[in-house]
Amino acid sequence: MNRLTTLLTIASLVLLISCKKEQENKETAQTPTRSVSSKPFGTMPDGKAVTLYTLRNTQGMEVGVINYGGIIVSMTAPDRNGKYEDVVLGFDSLSQYLKGNPAYFGALIGRFGNRIAKGKFSIDKVQYTLPVNNGENHLHGGKGFDKVFWDIEVQPDSSSLKLTYQSADGEQGYPGNLKVEVVYTLTDQNELKIDYKAATDKATVVNLTQHTYFNLSANMNQDILQHQLQINADEFLPVDKGLIPTGELRKVATTPFDFTTLTAVGSRINQDEDQLKKGVGYDHCWILRGYDGKTNRKIAELYDSTSGRLMEVSTTEPGVQFYSGNFLDGTLTGKGGVVYKHRTGLCLETQHYPDSPNQSAFPSVLLSPGQTYETSTTYKFATR
Ligand code: BGC
Repeated sequence: MNRLTTLLTIASLVLLISCKKEQENKETAQTPTRSVSSKPFGTMPDGKAVTLYTLRNTQGMEVGVINYGGIIVSMTAPDRNGKYEDVVLGFDSLSQYLKGNPAYFGALIGRFGNRIAKGKFSIDKVQYTLPVNNGENHLHGGKGFDKVFWDIEVQPDSSSLKLTYQSADGEQGYPGNLKVEVVYTLTDQNELKIDYKAATDKATVVNLTQHTYFNLSANMNQDILQHQLQINADEFLPVDKGLIPTGELRKVATTPFDFTTLTAVGSRINQDEDQLKKGVGYDHCWILRGYDGKTNRKIAELYDSTSGRLMEVSTTEPGVQFYSGNFLDGTLTGKGGVVYKHRTGLCLETQHYPDSPNQSAFPSVLLSPGQTYETSTTYKFATR
């Protein structure tokens, strides 16, 4: 009897151990580890090799970044069935990006995101002249940070990429040698966090941002007009016909610019309204609640009810340029040969207000020697 009990005990122990092992094996198979992979993505005209780095988190979310322009070429997010698909616009090859990326797909933007009127501003009574590349105005830093080669360093914890670039004094007309650092971090909570830093040796202006176009349906044959958007802002900046802010801070209440509650992007976009006509849709800066220069607070939410994908945006910045892809017109063919038609994607570019160097009532964009420019923005993906 005793023997039988011992045998039975041993048998059940063996069974228990093998079940546990099987369970452990399953768990390792199901839980992907965090990783960064890299592969060649082409060569710059000067022979520099461009690499595609892909960050992957334990949920299976991936973000692809290249050295050219610090461009985010792909970003996956889960739908409500857990299916991860690419939700950003872009091209398949470096040659397409090099041919000109007139829409700034996925790019890092600097030194100054958005417009500076007539490409002119002054610091301490010295006037600086920048190239004009958008009608009579300067846009996105001229031949800016979206078109330069960034050094990329994979960070030891495998969840971040550190991008650095040194912009020489006088580059695109801006004063000061500017050292720029941008860190892309993919967390296990399906957040892409972007931390920007810069330092100068001469007083200058800085306004860095990211120009990713999102289409949460992951179906790039479909426009974003059904996406629902909410922005924590009670005011926006009306613009002139060149999209330069007039200086007025206008209440969004009772206008098509009221996104204080989740509202379909397309529900008012074609209204016969002066500001919508000037922007050819939405192409304006919203003044975000709760700006204190340092708190990374939630400022917007974008939701696609068909896929269930939800994106939350938080930032330390005072404004967000909501651009509804109005200038996409079917002339650009993107990833997988898909033609990007009108309003296939939208951007939520966190930043200081456009034309700030010329508008003293706006939060300052001045950076002096000894100071560090520091901002942070997070795009978090979930489902609902
Ligand atoms: C601007 C648009 C511009 C677009 C270029 C946006 O940040 O606000 O006016 O056409 O960038 O893709």
